[in-house]
Amino acid sequence: MKLGDVRESTNVQDRRGGGGAKRGAVAVSGVTIVIVLIAALITGKNPLTLLGEVQKQDGAPSSAAPVDPNDPGAVFTRKVLATTEDAWKEMLPKLGKTYEEPTLVLFRDGVPSACGFQESAVGPFYCPGDRHAYVDLDFLADLQKKLGAEGDFAAAYVIAHEVGHHVQTLLGTSARVRDEGKDKGPTGNAVRMELQADCYAGAWGAYVKKKGLLEVGDVEQALGAAAAIGDDTLQRRARGRVSPETFSHGTSEQRVRWFKRGMESGDPSACDTFGASSL
Ligand SMILES: [Zn+2]
Repeated sequence: MKLGDVRESTNVQDRRGGGGAKRGAVAVSGVTIVIVLIAALITGKNPLTLLGEVQKQDGAPSSAAPVDPNDPGAVFTRKVLATTEDAWKEMLPKLGKTYEEPTLVLFRDGVPSACGFQESAVGPFYCPGDRHAYVDLDFLADLQKKLGAEGDFAAAYVIAHEVGHHVQTLLGTSARVRDEGKDKGPTGNAVRMELQADCYAGAWGAYVKKKGLLEVGDVEQALGAAAAIGDDTLQRRARGRVSPETFSHGTSEQRVRWFKRGMESGDPSACDTFGASSL
């Protein structure tokens, strides 16, 4: 991508310092314990439960390891997020909504969120509960190495996909799917959600293309990434066989096709995976 002159978003929170949070390893001070005990006496709640709640909210890193807030990965993320902000400020009003910018959290190893404590291994994710996208840059680098999803546009596509989930939250799609049930399987709601996020990422791709930010080979990179992280491809790689009933993101072919649909139309209303008779 040609990101040289692109502004950097101010909505990236860097929580990588200190090697990241470890589950249950958050330090709790003596003062906190006293407060928790008093609260337990007043509320009648189990003090250990209360302490757990306090720990969950305290996402402070546990040890100090130097992190450069301006390393290339962080700058890249801030610039890509800025392009998603500009793209959705332009596109979302066409769907009848004003865009509200999400926060993107950079983390390492693991991170507490409104969706619970998540390990880096789950990959980048979006949490509707706090409207934050969570990205481990080491995971992105790993993804590129392991899956052969080369290049910066592949990483940008992953960020744009998480932002796609934020758009689903703004549009009320996430809440509707939560109420209906996010069932797995080849035509389940889980797959429809994910393919729609891919299509939204494609619509963002059309925007950055229009702005002249793409280089030769970028689109192929994104398609390569989409193909590399299809359920069938991942399952075959991990277990040597494919179980469609457990699909949650769609096949490689579907992920590529929905990304293309967004990219070729540049129109998020073309991304109706829920109304589509065939995915
Ligand atoms: Zn997703």
